Amino acid sequence: MTDHLMTRRQVVGRWMAATSFGITASVLWKPDPIQAQLLPETPSCGGDDAATISQTEGPYYTPHTPQKRNFRPDAQGEAITLIGFVTDKRCQPVANATVDLWHADAHGVYDNSGYKLRGYQTTDAQGRYVFETIVPGLYPGRTRHFHVKIAVPGQRVLTTQLYFPDDARANRADGIFDRRLLMRIDNASDGKIGRYNFVVNLA
Ligand code: FE
Repeated sequence: MTDHLMTRRQVVGRWMAATSFGITASVLWKPDPIQAQLLPETPSCGGDDAATISQTEGPYYTPHTPQKRNFRPDAQGEAITLIGFVTDKRCQPVANATVDLWHADAHGVYDNSGYKLRGYQTTDAQGRYVFETIVPGLYPGRTRHFHVKIAVPGQRVLTTQLYFPDDARANRADGIFDRRLLMRIDNASDGKIGRYNFVVNLA
């Protein structure tokens, strides 16, 4: 049934269009019907416990990463497009937030001397970010994960990690894993779409 799926590019195009006008919470959290088939509605960003939880940075963070949207030239692997919003707890989009992403290659190895599979994006006026990258490999002691830092000017940096729902067994075995940080993963015709909306606590 692969030929019934949209490409990653088509999914991102629809998502961008569906959220690019009428900036209200309802638009942010209710994708258009076609998109909804592929990307079901995400959890609400409201509520007292809604802020995205922080997690350890781990040993492999490198500061001063380059601005980079497309990591795919950096390494071979299964394509994944990572999309989502940065919002505050009232579901308002946070523009100009820095989303700094780093992760292992398909063999579970980090580039600790350069900036392969490391880079940041800044959210647009509607709080959106998009990365093109590959699915990270496993390395001993951890389940599959992305590392992320969300920096909003004037606020504390949120450091956290994102997880894959398909790795249920490895997730259970990982003491750092937290299900609140599971991405929504959908299949496109040419790879995966990973979706996560970060909710930041603005002081
Ligand atoms: Fe890691």
